Amino acid sequence: MARRIGIMGGTFDPVHHGHLVAASEVQARFDLDEVVFVPTGVPWQKDGKGVSAAEDRYLMTVVATASNPRFSVSRVDIDRTGVTYTVDTLRDLRAQHPDAELFFITGADALEQILSWHRAEELFTLAHFVGVTRPGYSLADVHLPSGTVSLVEVPALAISSTDCRTRVGSGLPVWYLVPDGVVQYISKRRLYAAEN
Ligand code: ATP
Ligand code: MG
Repeated sequence: MARRIGIMGGTFDPVHHGHLVAASEVQARFDLDEVVFVPTGVPWQKDGKGVSAAEDRYLMTVVATASNPRFSVSRVDIDRTGVTYTVDTLRDLRAQHPDAELFFITGADALEQILSWHRAEELFTLAHFVGVTRPGYSLADVHLPSGTVSLVEVPALAISSTDCRTRVGSGLPVWYLVPDGVVQYISKRRLYAAEN
């Protein structure tokens, strides 16, 4: 049987438990052999908004996923030059896994933008799309071509990377919002600190 591979794309600045729960839930529901986390290079939606160094985002994602034998992290987006487009991510992973079935996992907020994505029609030919619920965003208003996207309800965690960054900048804890190793990595590298 073809290998079933989930792809969890994100800025992961920093990776948090919302990302991990979403990936874990889709892994179980879709009986995926593996979920590959793919930190973006320069995300086109976030161009110029001061995203942390790709290497820091990559390493935090490695730290966060290390204990799960079904999770891995790919460098395809951070090693490609230029802005990250999902179509390139999917093409690269397809080339690495020619016989696999690919499942692209995306939160309700990102799903809202799916039809406006660069070369959106091609995306559906490269992977199945799995939209996951996210507190604060409704999947009900998302009108997608029927049969293109599976919707999955995941345990609700109202956590965002933006909030984690703001909390660190204000001296508030991010313990239990992100994995312990990520708390320690943020502090070691002094990410998101007010003076930065
Ligand atoms: P930022 O606030 O910087 O945008 P974020 O928390 O939205 O960060 P991203 O790296 O932008 O995290 O998200 C990567 C993917 O994970 C997206 O598809 C997003 O919708 C999804 N996602 C993020 N947080 C959650 C959450 N709490 N529950 C479900 N899905 C989530
Ligand atoms: Mg986001």
